[in-house]
Amino acid sequence: MNMDAAHVFVVEDEDTIALGVVKALEHDGHRVTRFDRAETAIAAYQTAVPDLVLLDIMLPGVDGLEALRRMKAHNADIPIIMLTAKGDEAERVEGLELGADDYVPKPFSLRELLARVRARLRAREGANETPDEFRFGLVQVDLRRRILVRDGGPEQRLTTHEAGVLAYLIAHRGRDVTREELLEKVWGYAPTMQTRTVDNQILKLRKKVEEEPADPRHILTIHGKGYRFEP
Ligand code: CA
Repeated sequence: MNMDAAHVFVVEDEDTIALGVVKALEHDGHRVTRFDRAETAIAAYQTAVPDLVLLDIMLPGVDGLEALRRMKAHNADIPIIMLTAKGDEAERVEGLELGADDYVPKPFSLRELLARVRARLRAREGANETPDEFRFGLVQVDLRRRILVRDGGPEQRLTTHEAGVLAYLIAHRGRDVTREELLEKVWGYAPTMQTRTVDNQILKLRKKVEEEPADPRHILTIHGKGYRFEP
């Protein structure tokens, strides 16, 4: 289940390069947030959860390699492509050792950059795909038709948002998912929106999914963070 346009972070302090990259990505159908410093990008990474990050190495303050380390420590699932200075073998090797998914040496052609971005996004989409039908515990859910059956009971219909939340939780099963992330990915809202919306949706979903909604076994609350799905 692919929601909509991918959200790409561009972390690059040089305006001319950044603006060209942002324009090309937007033209390619992506949603882009640009940062000129690693500090703000790292903070946003922890709440907004982009689909991909383009990260320059030479940045003022915290540099790209340190930013890579911190981002991957927080969430290693998001692909990060490093923008490296031409011929700097050591930086490239260090980046890959720190978990960078790819690198593009400067100066790069925008066509090549877009091709690398597309390839990474495709790989990620495949890995995170939620099957239309999914079974967990006593629950059988058809996410395409938005129908859920628990313990051989009657068919329950899911609203678009309930199905979206459940599909996203299932796709990221076993890992903590923040309220801000759900707001952005399921509702398409900016993460500053009321996170209470998510909590309300979770309560409704639990009534359909869980045998004892007050003591959930599948949609768990992670205090101070969000939720986690356990099949
Ligand atoms: Ca730079």
